[in-house]
Amino acid sequence: MRIISRLFAAGFFLSVLLLTACAAEPIKGVIITGQNNHNWPVSHKAIKMTLENSGLFKMDLAISPAAGEDMSSFDVDFSKYAFVFLDYNGDPWPEKMNKDFLEYVKNGGGVVVYHAADNAFADWDEYNKIIALGGWGGRNEKSGPYVYWKDGSPVRDTTAGTGGSHGARHEFIMNRRVASHPIIDGLPERWKHASDELYDRMRGPGDIKDLLYTAYSPMEKGGSGREEPLVFTVEYGKGRIFHIMLGHCGDTLEDNPAMQCAGFQTLLLRGSEWCATGNVTQKVPADFPTETSVSLRPNYKQP
Ligand code: ZN
Repeated sequence: MRIISRLFAAGFFLSVLLLTACAAEPIKGVIITGQNNHNWPVSHKAIKMTLENSGLFKMDLAISPAAGEDMSSFDVDFSKYAFVFLDYNGDPWPEKMNKDFLEYVKNGGGVVVYHAADNAFADWDEYNKIIALGGWGGRNEKSGPYVYWKDGSPVRDTTAGTGGSHGARHEFIMNRRVASHPIIDGLPERWKHASDELYDRMRGPGDIKDLLYTAYSPMEKGGSGREEPLVFTVEYGKGRIFHIMLGHCGDTLEDNPAMQCAGFQTLLLRGSEWCATGNVTQKVPADFPTETSVSLRPNYKQP
């Protein structure tokens, strides 16, 4: 009897160990990069470090051929990943990759749309539904309405005009616009983001699911004078999309305040977990920015 109960106890202990090991398995994602009007050789490293330093993620890289080169060899096996991180703004992907990407998202794949990834593929209708709002690349009223926040709700403005602009980089206040969502639960209603580009006058199909944060784009900095949607979620089929317009990449990993911002990194981590799993298990970090002071993580790691 005693031996049996000991065996039983040992078996139970082993199962707990196994379960713990499974739970600690990092979430697998892929960063798609290799072409961008931005400094992708630095940005993809900053993203990979931010995500992997948390211990929650293991990120592969899918680096495209250079701009203007033959793209036909470029392919990503999306089925291997819980989410896809888009740091790409360049030549069209091969038709097969486009189709595979749409299937992946429709069937429940997660996507992070980061900064200039929403400049990409202005003429690809399905991609524009996935990002909801985009800029540049010839976007105009044919791309969809301008979307911004006014008097407590989002406005869809069909006025003719160019989509996508930004003023001079500066520090600005992020304003929460939804009472509760796994990505932002526990985060402050207002916090100060480190110096960054503030995208304005973005336009597209505009089907935002949850608008998480906006920021006011001041005219005196060359902005729109509107409260601009900068962090939000989108639904596409069964897929979960996290779109974050923040994070203009600096010249080096050291000179990169927008991506070093603890608020930006926290949103990247929480948004990535949410689009991969539908949940967020991360606690609010102690170094999160306040309304009056920015907070930087120069080593891309939560202290
Ligand atoms: Zn930028």
